[in-house]
Amino acid sequence: METRQLRPVGVVVSEWHSTDTMTIAGKPAAIRIFPDFSPAMHRIEEHNYFWVLCWFHQADRSILRSRPAQVNSQLPEYGVFGLRTAARPNPIALSLVKLEKIVDDTIYVSGMDAINGTAVLDIKPYFESDIVFSPKTPYIRPKEYMMRVNLFRKQALFHHGENCCGLELGVQMALVADEHFGQIQCPDVELTVYGDPCVADVLQGLTRARLANPARFTYLKNAGPTRVIWKKADKTLIITVRDDIGTAIANETDPQQWFKIEIM
Ligand SMILES: [Zn+2]
Repeated sequence: METRQLRPVGVVVSEWHSTDTMTIAGKPAAIRIFPDFSPAMHRIEEHNYFWVLCWFHQADRSILRSRPAQVNSQLPEYGVFGLRTAARPNPIALSLVKLEKIVDDTIYVSGMDAINGTAVLDIKPYFESDIVFSPKTPYIRPKEYMMRVNLFRKQALFHHGENCCGLELGVQMALVADEHFGQIQCPDVELTVYGDPCVADVLQGLTRARLANPARFTYLKNAGPTRVIWKKADKTLIITVRDDIGTAIANETDPQQWFKIEIM
């Protein structure tokens, strides 16, 4: 078989040394670019998100079908071209990272899911045109609650851009809806949001519900409490933020206590 030669352009420097403790949401890390390639960094700070391609040297290259075991081992098997698993014929990893800062030849990023010492093959900017707002995907639902929380928080932050109170309320509401309805990106999930525009924006990002074509999302700015009405087939779920939300956030360890939840 014909072979190709790759030259790593840099290396991941991270506190995380084991793939066992790496999360799919990634970790803060640095990418040290090798001196030969430092001219390739010219003006990269004009972007703030990057695709980083790495070589996962510990991955099994013989596997062609697998389960997304880290996410949920009870899910069915997929061919590896339908998964992001590290195990694949050429273990090239694709990570979407946020640029935090650049110091000399080192790029500091967040959201990196590669361990310390991983070879970096390439770095490419993330462009607006990379967005497919409402793609069709199977629901690879994380089994662990905290993994779902972290995944929703990461998606919400990518979409909303600020870590505000509305972001956390939106994430927690989406987790409640996910419990009741399953995949909230489904074409048959509709929602109407009243109140906080940050909650509305976060939920639009998490559900990928558009205002039209098809119309799955409605937003109404009102003076009352923030409320979201979710509908799927003949099921309705109403989540209302408690009047004393400030006290609730301070005192309740269970975020579901922040809301009044009605199911019809
Ligand atoms: Zn906000």
